Amino acid sequence: MTAATNHQWRLAHRPEGMIKTSDFNLVAEPVPELADGQVLIRNIYLSLDPAMRGWLIDRPSYVPPVQIGEIMRGLAVGMVESSRHPKFEKGDTVQGLFGWQEYLVSNGEGVTKLPSSPLPLSANLGLFGLAGMTSYFGLLDVGQPKEGETLVVSGAAGSVGSLVGQIGKIKGMRAVGIAGTDEKCDWLVDGLGFDAAINYKNGDLRGQLKAACPNGVDVYFENVGGEILDVVLSVMNSFGRVVVCGLISQYNATDKVPGPYNFAMVISKRLRIQGFIAPDYGPRVKEMITDFSTWYMDGKLKYRVDVVHGLDAAPTAINKLFDGSNQGKLIVQVSEV
Ligand code: NDP
Repeated sequence: MTAATNHQWRLAHRPEGMIKTSDFNLVAEPVPELADGQVLIRNIYLSLDPAMRGWLIDRPSYVPPVQIGEIMRGLAVGMVESSRHPKFEKGDTVQGLFGWQEYLVSNGEGVTKLPSSPLPLSANLGLFGLAGMTSYFGLLDVGQPKEGETLVVSGAAGSVGSLVGQIGKIKGMRAVGIAGTDEKCDWLVDGLGFDAAINYKNGDLRGQLKAACPNGVDVYFENVGGEILDVVLSVMNSFGRVVVCGLISQYNATDKVPGPYNFAMVISKRLRIQGFIAPDYGPRVKEMITDFSTWYMDGKLKYRVDVVHGLDAAPTAINKLFDGSNQGKLIVQVSEV
């Protein structure tokens, strides 16, 4: 891949089930000359997020679907290579929806300059990025946690879930994680300080939950949906809150998915169920950055990043989110920092 050529993944057709490389075309285009008011950005890291699977479905949502022939949408951090824009200069690190490509020519709209930071650049896509926003506002604003309450989070070893449990601990909750391997469960308890972690693949989820949550569950942070949601509903306390962040178990479904069979619990236990979209909290991002900076410096927030190398790998790498093989925030390194 040369500096003069921009490789891009463009949507060839809509995926059925899991994403396949053949759902995209890898296209090579020359990097255009800059006009006045434009900036050339070189992508360094691409964020791979479960929501991207939803962006490929042709249905109304909080963002329009990616159209056939378009470059795959995706959050990225990059570096300004050259600029004819008054706000940007060569060497600036920037963030935005730059897409699955090596370079982007932009008029500066939607391009955010990143402040200098002692943290690695990739942290802007995890701890201080969408995962940070999602965990912070999802738990604190939507979940309304109280000291002494019990928090259960599914997808607990992922980029969002691992932060949710740690924030719960900071707020004085009992934090219990649900994850898909014993290694992930060990990391949650020994590495992050969760009070307990349950491997949902080991069976008897209800029995394991009852043992891990002797006082019931007050806040459930839902990342997964399906069977896990139903089982947690059955152990919720009255007036509990269910924060619906994601339903990853259903994102690749090819048929209609069944609704929760324990839904009547919502009435008998007077539960509040609320979904949310993290970018809605954009105007309040400073609250998260202030708290996370303090907590991170105090050693109370830890995170891990799973880096896959090369733009070519993006369409296969995204499935690590769906088969559970990602170890933390999943990103693709497109070029050197
Ligand atoms: P993660 O890093 O958590 O990766 C996804 C994990 O989900 C996998 O590692 C896997 O872990 C688990 N998983 C996948 N399939 C299943 C399944 N069928 N059943 C149970 N667990 C499964 O991803 P993110 O942290 O980026 O995202 C977590 C959730 O947050 C997603 O649902 C996502 O859509 C949502 N989200 C919502 C946002 C919002 O604004 N509402 C913003 C960002 C994310 P395991 O090994 O434990 O199975």
